[in-house]
Amino acid sequence: MPTPSKLQSTGAASPPNSGRAFTVLRDTFGFSEFHPLQAEIIDTVIAGGNAIAIMPTGGGKSLCYQIPSLVRAGTGVVVSPLIALMKDQVDALRQYGVRAAYLNSSLSFEARLRTERELAGGAVDILYMAPEGLLTDASLELLAGVDVALFAIDEAHCVSRWGHDFRPEYRQLSQLAERFPGVPRMALTATADAMTRRDIAAELRLADAEMYVASFDRPNIRYLISEAGGARQSLLQFITEKHPGDSGIVYCLTRRGVEETAAWLCDRGLRAVPYHAGLADADRERSHDSFTREDGVVVVATVAFGMGIDKPDVRFVAHLNLPKNIESYYQETGRAGRDGAPASAWMRYGLKDVVMLLQMLEKSEAGEEYKRIERAKMNSLLGLCEATGCRRQMLLNYFGETHPGACGNCDNCLAPPEAWDATVAAQKALSCVYRTGQRFGAAHLSDVLLGKDTDNIRRFNHRSLSVHGIGTEHTAVEWRSIIRQLTAAGLLTPDPHGHGGLRLTPEARAVLKGEQAIRLRKLPRRDAAKKKSAPRPSPPAASLDDRDRLLFEELRKLRLALAREQKVPPYVIFHDSTLRDMAGRKPSDEAEMLEISGVGRDKLKRYGAAFLAVVEEFGRGL
Ligand code: ADP
Ligand code: ZN
Repeated sequence: MPTPSKLQSTGAASPPNSGRAFTVLRDTFGFSEFHPLQAEIIDTVIAGGNAIAIMPTGGGKSLCYQIPSLVRAGTGVVVSPLIALMKDQVDALRQYGVRAAYLNSSLSFEARLRTERELAGGAVDILYMAPEGLLTDASLELLAGVDVALFAIDEAHCVSRWGHDFRPEYRQLSQLAERFPGVPRMALTATADAMTRRDIAAELRLADAEMYVASFDRPNIRYLISEAGGARQSLLQFITEKHPGDSGIVYCLTRRGVEETAAWLCDRGLRAVPYHAGLADADRERSHDSFTREDGVVVVATVAFGMGIDKPDVRFVAHLNLPKNIESYYQETGRAGRDGAPASAWMRYGLKDVVMLLQMLEKSEAGEEYKRIERAKMNSLLGLCEATGCRRQMLLNYFGETHPGACGNCDNCLAPPEAWDATVAAQKALSCVYRTGQRFGAAHLSDVLLGKDTDNIRRFNHRSLSVHGIGTEHTAVEWRSIIRQLTAAGLLTPDPHGHGGLRLTPEARAVLKGEQAIRLRKLPRRDAAKKKSAPRPSPPAASLDDRDRLLFEELRKLRLALAREQKVPPYVIFHDSTLRDMAGRKPSDEAEMLEISGVGRDKLKRYGAAFLAVVEEFGRGL
């Protein structure tokens, strides 16, 4: 057995691959090259070895077990906790002409019997099961009589007690090692931390497995983060300008925020649906279905929405509030662009969010140590928000990966923010906090600095303070940004018990005493930012001109009709990236159609003629 090793992929081209795996990749799935590490993982398992694969969302984990299941003799058994997804996964495989099936508690008695018969007859290449179903005596006996090609344990982080998705039954999967000696086993997950990795190796008895860790970079995702102020309006502008007709997810912190935002977007002509845990089951299902089954639906949701969403063509993920921490941010934004085509991660944040999150944390039952860690994580997130450097570099550094920066696909790289010497402004703001008793929020502080005469200022007699009116060189919006950035820099901290009050931290002292200079990011001037980011360097697949875009829309219509007929999600027929490729290259016969990425042998047979006809008709309309 090979010794454990770690491979860090750099995203280089696939290595020369063993013939049969590549043939399946090309003929069955219609792809022309492996993603980083896919070939290595597949080769290891085909040769009978065990493997642990750690890849980001969209990295292509499924092919890592699907291809060996097809190349090796017998049935590949895939263990997944996401019962709700199994049907779609199996439908998608069948579209490729793969003999796939699932066994779980949602099946009728007859359907189960049928599948079991097919399985015993050697007519199933890939079988999906939930862990609790697999571990029953009946199932283990059934599998003992079957030629098992491999066991793939998906979402393997569920085995770790430390994660938020811990599932006790996952620990029992260690039994597979004794019960099926000689059958290769693999564990796959997108959770990258060292603790989870160790747990997977130990708990699933995979200490001898080859460990593959892919880069967590998602180069097709463009990170866009900006400060609050008219968040909804700018969300609308962002969607209508950058993502018209695209599917997307908008995350809000509260249920009320979800409902109001969804209604607001609908009023402005978008197809938006709400999703949160408080909705009636039927309403939630309706939202879920229209998001997964139709094109161009925007789901507005709390973070309850996401786990178990397998839609590959989500073009944007927007946050109207701060997520909990960088881990959550990366997981949530990672739901965009799984298909590798360009996608956006857009966020607007404000100090209010920070205060709200802190209050939620303080009110929770968690222990002091946990709260301390969570507060530190929140500060890292604020650091990311206020950063002036490459966002991608910061994100990857946070996860322990190095990146040279200057990615060219984040807002700071596209339009570098200016920094300015804000030492004097910082001193004014910090002394204002001190003089007003360390219990007011940004709005009142800014009023005092601007020398206003509000009810609160009169009530607390803040006109008499030396700081009243010392900051008229800045606007209220600027003061709020300054105060937020000082909070992000750790000089101010929200009083978690108060109502948004801010206190000085020990670090503020050096600045107040003039021992430390402070540089802050300038408020982006809208027109300047626009000019700089105008030439949008979009990856090749996206660059459709207006005419091709029309063809793309025609192809989408055909896809939707076919999907409705078969009651499957549209992406199961073809991905957006495939339709985009078609619209750009306009294949005129079957051979040219086969060259389109995502068109394999079986799909050509099923759909080639119909899509060729649309392309041809479109060409005649020239
Ligand atoms: P993960 O489970 O790691 O999030 P998936 O297995 O769902 O990722 O794959 C993400 C997307 O990438 C899918 O749409 C899949 O069809 C596509 N994909 C996977 N491997 C390749 C490849 N070698 N070439 C092109 N597309 C691929
Ligand atoms: Zn960048």
